[in-house]
Amino acid sequence: MKAAVFEGLEQMVVKDVPDPELPDDESLILKVHACAVCGSDIRIFHHGNPRVTPPQVIGHEIAAEVVAVGPKVARFKVGDRVATGADVPCGECRWCREGLGNNCATNYAIGYQFPGGFAQYMPVNSMTVRYGAVHHIPPELTYDEATLAEPLGCCINGLELSSLRLGDTVVVIGAGPAGCMLMRLARWQGALRVLAVQRSRARLAYARRLGGADVVICTQDADPVESVLRATNGEGADVVITAIASVQTHMQALRMVASRGRIVLFGGLPKGSPSIPLESNLVHYKELLITGSHGSVPRHHRLALEILARGVINAEDYITHRFPLDRIKDAFAAAEGHQGMKVVIHPNE
Ligand SMILES: [Zn+2]
Ligand SMILES: [Zn+2]
Repeated sequence: MKAAVFEGLEQMVVKDVPDPELPDDESLILKVHACAVCGSDIRIFHHGNPRVTPPQVIGHEIAAEVVAVGPKVARFKVGDRVATGADVPCGECRWCREGLGNNCATNYAIGYQFPGGFAQYMPVNSMTVRYGAVHHIPPELTYDEATLAEPLGCCINGLELSSLRLGDTVVVIGAGPAGCMLMRLARWQGALRVLAVQRSRARLAYARRLGGADVVICTQDADPVESVLRATNGEGADVVITAIASVQTHMQALRMVASRGRIVLFGGLPKGSPSIPLESNLVHYKELLITGSHGSVPRHHRLALEILARGVINAEDYITHRFPLDRIKDAFAAAEGHQGMKVVIHPNE
């Protein structure tokens, strides 16, 4: 089969490799129809990741067809359409047993320790079949659309941690695909007002069209903290979610959030990023809750597929670029250029 193999920093080689075989009696082989590019794939490509040992096939926003099943697999059969989430709970540690597999210290994931979706076929081992996020794709969704369930699952996790309440004002900083999904989902969950903060003008339009934001603040034109305070009668927002890899936004979030507000640090920062000076008196006097949000657990991924099938998030609108596997470098460049939204690779075209 053909696979894009990550062989080291900045080295992505499309080549023929042996077809995968069933790793064990409870495993699957998938034919990958669509695998979307995630910001973390690009970070792995440029900077590596301690959980990825080259040579490895990366890619974790996957929609595929089951082409082989181990004799002990009951939940899937050949021909099933499935989508997968990234994080795979180990099933053994305290966090995994408590349904918090994204906090697992080992943190197994597809496209990290386990082979990913930038290949024509991929094996899915028994741990993933048993504990991971492998779910049937609802009939309403295409393979391309189903790839969005992975990032949407992460957004659901972030919103759960925000304790969003009916009538809240929500600020989302960063109008990339995840940011826009967070905006739309926040509204669906009961936010009265949704404000988007974004630097590039190209993405401001997406914040309105895909995210449905009421107020769009371009940081090239205006100070985001002042703008949010002005738009909220000086009170600030009930929930602020940072969906961009920028340390500056973490500090801005503290200043634009209302008393008793919640801040979710959704977007991670590149390793080696500076730590922020936390104005702890702001947290003290405003009684703030600050939380992080990382990945998702299988129930988030399953719920994401159902939400997509209902059309709450118009998945088709998010997919702006499609590439065959041979052009994976162009696909990465398109995703990195922030021109569009989701970039999807079709390994079997
Ligand atoms: Zn992802
Ligand atoms: Zn675990």
